[in-house]
Amino acid sequence: MQYSKSLVWFRRDLRDYDHAALYHALKASQQVYCTFIFDTEILNQLTNKADRRVEFIWESVKELKGSLQKNGGDLIVLHGSAANEIPQLALTLEVQAVFTNHDYEPSAITRDNKVAQQLQTNSINFHHYKDQVIFEKDEVLTMAHKPYSVFTPYKNMWLKNVNDFYLRPYPVDTYLNNLAKTQPEPLLSLESLGFQRTNLSNMRLPTGMSGAASLFSDFVDRIKHYKEARDYPAIKGVSYLSVHLRFGTISIRQLAKTALQIGGLGAETWASELIWRDFYFQILHHHPQLQTGKSFKPEFEAIPFPNDTKLFTAWCEGKTGYPLVDAAMRQLNNTGFMHNRLRMVAASFLVKDLLIDWRWGERYFAEKLIDFDFSANNGGWQWAASTGCDAQPWFRIFNPITQSERFDANGKFIRKYVTELVNCNDKEIHAPWLMSAERQSTIKIIIGQDYPQPVVDHATQRERVLGLYKHMTIN
Ligand code: FAD
Repeated sequence: MQYSKSLVWFRRDLRDYDHAALYHALKASQQVYCTFIFDTEILNQLTNKADRRVEFIWESVKELKGSLQKNGGDLIVLHGSAANEIPQLALTLEVQAVFTNHDYEPSAITRDNKVAQQLQTNSINFHHYKDQVIFEKDEVLTMAHKPYSVFTPYKNMWLKNVNDFYLRPYPVDTYLNNLAKTQPEPLLSLESLGFQRTNLSNMRLPTGMSGAASLFSDFVDRIKHYKEARDYPAIKGVSYLSVHLRFGTISIRQLAKTALQIGGLGAETWASELIWRDFYFQILHHHPQLQTGKSFKPEFEAIPFPNDTKLFTAWCEGKTGYPLVDAAMRQLNNTGFMHNRLRMVAASFLVKDLLIDWRWGERYFAEKLIDFDFSANNGGWQWAASTGCDAQPWFRIFNPITQSERFDANGKFIRKYVTELVNCNDKEIHAPWLMSAERQSTIKIIIGQDYPQPVVDHATQRERVLGLYKHMTIN
């Protein structure tokens, strides 16, 4: 054994199976302590104290703690600045090493460097591992050893490189005996962290490792239909695993391995989505300037968007008068989730119909999304705004009405969130302002009174936005 005592620092990897850092720590140490820090550097920035993410983490930490306790160990849960708490705890416990998994966000890297320095000052080793992706950093490069910025060749190389070595689970179980036997400590309450309960428990979103496992087993039964079903928000076509991937309550190796083993169009299409996730992580690694709000394509750095704040408020509140966009935004506000097709529609609408800087929308999503992940969110926004790597070409503009007719043909999703329109028929519901005054009064939905008039005209805005982008390409 290399160490008599060590410490595993859990962050976005809230599980105790197939876990790189936990496995390496247990294998190398006689006694392994585990910790999770509710980091005030992050939590203090959240102005809304009823944040579904904090509750999700809290519930998942609770389950992880219980599971470690069943195996004779515990999870030491603290509230403070992780950059200070970790070195301090390492000293108090007298460990010789701290083990953790990589976090690729530039702010997390700065924090980890600070921790590493302080540990080094006290002659404590710091070990860190890849865990939340299949391939990280420079592991998938072009033949010329350059990073990819286009998805399809990246994906092809990813698929060429992947093998059992990258997909096999870390057999944590074998070494669980090495968990440090401690007197279990009670868990800090959510309220003591300064947060409140949200509507999370009313949603069909189970938390923790057990929640992730049940969602995944439900999805595996549907995976063969993923390709056809994934674009329709009213259908249960996707996995709903994003928040679990965000907080590591499920292992990416387990998901990728299962998808590749099942094969067929559905599973292959889903595996592609997991590859998009790796793709955006490596984009952020190679382009850390993205975290400072830079556009991936420099020519689109400073598009002179008019940025009308009234239009922005209408978008945030789901009151634009475009039913599919409004349903999407209300889903986000009410649940913290938004279906992928709708993320594309809502993002495109903000930028290309309302002419608002994509960074405003990116920030709003970052505040509201339960699965918020900087790399995927920034990637998605820059894709929709045509400013990103491998983005939608700038002259391709979603039509919010045809998107609605195509992906929510009978208005089932719209009716769920835009209840004002429940009496519209399946044709009217996509563009209710086209109903005659007589019809509006018959079905008791007066446009402009019970539901907003469209805040902009799509055809007019389309021309305006094309002008803005065109101007950037010639200058
Ligand atoms: P599934 O369809 O079941 O896909 C499985 C997993 O693949 C997802 O859980 C996710 O981890 C990954 N994935 C799927 N699509 C993408 C993608 N385009 N980019 C990267 N990873 C992907 N995803 C986030 O996890 N966090 C975000 O903050 C986020 N913001 C987005 C913002 C915009 C504007 C757009 C267009 C997309 C964004 N996405 C984000 C990607 C995608 O919308 C969500 O991952 C997906 O809707 C989550 O639902 P699911 O788990 O059922 O996905």
